[in-house]
Amino acid sequence: MKPLAISLAFLLLACSDQHPNQTKPPKALFDFSTPDNTIKSTWRVSTWKDTTQLDTSDFEFFTSSRLASERENKKQMMNTLRTKHPQNDNSITDVQIKSDSYAVVEAKEYFTIAQKDPSERRYILSKENGKWKIDDSQYKCFTCKGSGFEEDFDQKLSDIKQGLYRTEPKRKCTKCNQTGWVSLYKH
Ligand SMILES: [Zn+2]
Repeated sequence: MKPLAISLAFLLLACSDQHPNQTKPPKALFDFSTPDNTIKSTWRVSTWKDTTQLDTSDFEFFTSSRLASERENKKQMMNTLRTKHPQNDNSITDVQIKSDSYAVVEAKEYFTIAQKDPSERRYILSKENGKWKIDDSQYKCFTCKGSGFEEDFDQKLSDIKQGLYRTEPKRKCTKCNQTGWVSLYKH
């Protein structure tokens, strides 16, 4: 082999995204057959992408040496995620099929490995051409923690002015309109 061919072969080997002891996971596919299968498959597909897709096109603003080190960081992160991905601990906690074309799925989700308590999520799904698709994605309201009620500061102030000291006057949560959930899309 000529020196150029050898160095090219070495370069190709060095650029391989395969970890020597790990095979690339098979491509994950969406499954829209039931509302909970749709949600579970979104987790599988995003996990698959996180552990196989080395797309550094977002880093094109870096110099070539910085890009190389960022690529290496991402490769290491990918291998770490292959061993332990936070989404592996996600779970479906409730499925309510309200009609032939409307369902609500609740889930507990992890976004980082360090996250101790899962995030509570709720998905609204609609059936479109025989497939269950996500119409809305919601998180548990931070203001009222899902109770639908928040502390009524105006009432508290007015109470204090009148010399009343009621404990924690409440009012309907203004953030979630008392539903306990806030949409990621509608604000
Ligand atoms: Zn609320």
